[in-house]
Amino acid sequence: MGADARAAGDRAGSGRRAVGPWTSSFAPRPLLPSLAFLFFLLLVVLGARAARYETCPKVQPDMLNVHLVAHTHDDVGWLKTVDQYFYGIHNDIQRAGVQYILDSVVSSLLANPTRRFIYVEIAFFARWWYQQTKAKQEVVRDLVRQGRLEFANGGWVMNDEASTHYGAIIDQMTLGLRFLEDTFGIDGRPHVAWHIDPFGHSREQASLFAQMGFDGFFFGRLDYQDKAIREQMLEMEQVWRASTSLKPPAADLFTGVLPNMYNPPKDLCWDMLCDDKPVVDNPYSPEYNADKLVKYFLELAAAQGRHYRTNHTIMTMGSDFHYENANMWFKNLDKLIQLVNAQQQASGSRVHVLYSTPACYLRELNKANLTWSVKQDDFFPYADGPHQFWTGYFSSRPALKRYERLSYNFLQVCKQLEALAGPAANVGPYGSGDSTPLREAVAVLQHHDAVSGTSRQHVADDYAFQLAEGWGPCEVLLSNALALLSGSKENFTYCRELNVSVCPLSQTAARFQVTIYNPLGRKVNWMVRLPVRGGVFSVRDPNGTTVPSEVVILPGSNSQEHPPELLFSASVPALGFSTYSVSRVPKRTPKAHTYRPRPWSRVLVIQNEHIRASFNPDTGLLMKIENLDQNLLLPVRQAFFWYNASTGDYLSPQVSGAYIFRPNQPEPLPVRRWAETRLVKTALVQEVHQNFSAWCSQVVRLYPGQRHLELEWTVGPIPVGDGWGKEVISRFDTTLETDGRFYTDSNGREILERRRNYRPTWDLSQTEPVAGNYYPVNSRIYITDGNMQLTVLTDRSQGGSSLSDGSLELMVHRRLLKDDARGVGEPLQEAGLDGWGPGLWVRGRHLLLLDTARTAAAGHRLLAEKEVLAPQIVLALGGGAPYRLGAAPRTQFSGLHQELPPTVHLLTLARWGPETLLLRLEHQFAVGEDTVGNLSSPVTLDLRNLFSTFTITHLQETMLAANQARDLASRLRWTPSTGLPTQTTPSLLDPAAITLQPMEIRTFLASVEWKEDIYTHSDAPL
Ligand SMILES: [Zn+2]
Repeated sequence: MGADARAAGDRAGSGRRAVGPWTSSFAPRPLLPSLAFLFFLLLVVLGARAARYETCPKVQPDMLNVHLVAHTHDDVGWLKTVDQYFYGIHNDIQRAGVQYILDSVVSSLLANPTRRFIYVEIAFFARWWYQQTKAKQEVVRDLVRQGRLEFANGGWVMNDEASTHYGAIIDQMTLGLRFLEDTFGIDGRPHVAWHIDPFGHSREQASLFAQMGFDGFFFGRLDYQDKAIREQMLEMEQVWRASTSLKPPAADLFTGVLPNMYNPPKDLCWDMLCDDKPVVDNPYSPEYNADKLVKYFLELAAAQGRHYRTNHTIMTMGSDFHYENANMWFKNLDKLIQLVNAQQQASGSRVHVLYSTPACYLRELNKANLTWSVKQDDFFPYADGPHQFWTGYFSSRPALKRYERLSYNFLQVCKQLEALAGPAANVGPYGSGDSTPLREAVAVLQHHDAVSGTSRQHVADDYAFQLAEGWGPCEVLLSNALALLSGSKENFTYCRELNVSVCPLSQTAARFQVTIYNPLGRKVNWMVRLPVRGGVFSVRDPNGTTVPSEVVILPGSNSQEHPPELLFSASVPALGFSTYSVSRVPKRTPKAHTYRPRPWSRVLVIQNEHIRASFNPDTGLLMKIENLDQNLLLPVRQAFFWYNASTGDYLSPQVSGAYIFRPNQPEPLPVRRWAETRLVKTALVQEVHQNFSAWCSQVVRLYPGQRHLELEWTVGPIPVGDGWGKEVISRFDTTLETDGRFYTDSNGREILERRRNYRPTWDLSQTEPVAGNYYPVNSRIYITDGNMQLTVLTDRSQGGSSLSDGSLELMVHRRLLKDDARGVGEPLQEAGLDGWGPGLWVRGRHLLLLDTARTAAAGHRLLAEKEVLAPQIVLALGGGAPYRLGAAPRTQFSGLHQELPPTVHLLTLARWGPETLLLRLEHQFAVGEDTVGNLSSPVTLDLRNLFSTFTITHLQETMLAANQARDLASRLRWTPSTGLPTQTTPSLLDPAAITLQPMEIRTFLASVEWKEDIYTHSDAPL
């Protein structure tokens, strides 16, 4: 789509908003128990539930009830862009138009009051809603109130579960559920999470859904072996215990596997996209088929019901972009229901069929009052048949995956400054600043064909475009906020291409200032690297003191590829900024940093006070890493390899593609067995530059004080001229005895143990020794022998594994020449330049930590937090006008009066309403993870005087997505086979003592007053 297609008012969800994402205020309520609360308690006592379930249809207690769920699955971008899907453009690519679907469904619902429909993707629904008349909106509100139109899931999108970070999942769910709460109140609140299409399911996702208050969860895709066994064992429905830290039932979620993925049963698809015969119930018609159809349906229902434990079964009547002509579906379903139920009288049939919804189906399962078995692991990896592992998308489109993560980082900075500066961030000297477009763009990127890398190329380009469009209004917001907080109206500049060492301002100006904003609740030291034209610079800290700096020039390299870089270490306070001044010292030229190893020691070594890394003199490869603090030494060989992508073989025609990973042989080929190396050693950085080939290189780096080794890899364009698709990995081989086990994070939070060729809940018949052992790595993967632990942190989601003991690998890039036949219909080429470029080159970082197993968590938890919420660098020439007359300029600022303890992560600080903020505090350690430093203990905070720019006048605790007050929320109770967990009632909220248990996230809506002195700086906190 062109830029003009996104004109204001036409963007999803933003049609009604001038500034800020709020309209009505979900204002915190007084702490005293309200009448509503007392009434609610009464309801709990009587065993009834709040709205929604009360509108559920009647069922027949002594029959098999078949719940027909009329639904459409509307991908927020896949083969077409979001806008192309919404408007129904490019029907030559795929027949799909969401605006018509919603129009058509509403008309059909009005035509017959027994019909029901569910809708899921709020990115589409919100856009449609703002285009309706007031009268039409009222009609829809009525349908929602009566339960005839029900929202399921209710996120902005149906997010991917393998390549998403938990923070972004929470944000996108919050955005969608906020729309529903504002628009429909409690009537629009979904009770059921509905991830019918994502390609495997993470445990963290279930935990987050539980914490959001969902009563249950349904999905469609799981391993074909797993499904067969579950059907046999009647374990299609279970309680998922999704956290090993949170006390049950906090992260318990009732979870059901749908019988037929999310499609209608065979021969019963009555969409205009299907070819099945309509119901012909006129016995005089030569096409009469009602008898046959009813007989088939009764058999089908009985067969399906045999795999489930209650006298209820669910049928998903719809699929991708169905219901554009809703009448076709509903007319036939009306007839089917009438014909099947008539058999109860006519032939004593015991099958009752009805229009229902996932929530109404769930309600009946709950009423059955059974004891359910418990699931504790996750649903990765997903295979839909032998040799068909959906583990390629863990790594597909690595550049988009990084851009998404970087945008999440920037969005948090944007939201924090919007909260810290208050309304002055939205309207200020630089114009209207707004976080909404970036909130929506980052939410769209969580869709299961977006960050997953499984869309068509032009759609992936559009996703990147949406992110880029979202950055602009946030940059205006940052400028407004920074001008206010620093007291100086600078001409702020944002260098979006620092990742490729491009920044016009620092590369031309002789004098400039660098403001570094730190979004963490603790002070950070950060090595600033800026491309410069060369020369010598003097750098002054916020107090005017000169700090060590260097211009590093890589010897013998061209300055286009490796421009000289200015380095200095910045110290930045918690939730705040420091401004450094840089000026060029005239007439001095920096020296190129060549380093010649002493002749008697050919081994390359880089080391600081904590770490030493040694490189093999013959191969140039990393060969040893030492943790000097703990006296640990581990031989580690690291190199790049590539798998030759399968194009099908005698075992299976399955090829490697955007979704599926299938190497044609288990052993990867080395990119090269040795690397050309160059060493750079200065006071501020030590680097070993390794060149493996024209398309693969790496810089292994150490800064002073750093406790990890940084490996910055550059891979691409992957050559495919030989006709072979290639999947490139970075592999670490060590001597650790790991007993077939390794560990990966779940969406960046809790850790799961993985075992090679093993699944915790069934006897695996392994068909792919490599792809079948790949797991999503969102932030970290590690191996341990119980004594020593080697952890690798990633800067984006990647697939990873440990295919032999002591070894650990991550897939960094892939380029494929065949389509894997899962619908996308394009090979994952990523040629660049409108399809005609040479291919993408991708740069990223792996952070390597060697620790004792007992102390490793303290290292990787805090480092991962710093990686995902890295400081934001903003440049300016300096010499700006005062923000207000008399306001003293400020070169350093903190939004906190005191730092947060290392246990606590400030997950969200954002504007919620005109005088309301959304605040999420998270305990970032798991139970038992840190026994040495006591970081796994509960922690208590005093929020009363924590923030420096505003005062909290009132605090209300909510569920995780902030759409319901915690004290009023109640979830359906289920009895797990492990015994009924004891329910705890939330204690009275005391802002002076907010306690967080390990892995607990607490969400608050805070009424605030911004302090007047943030304008005058009279009470500068530093
Ligand atoms: Zn989908």
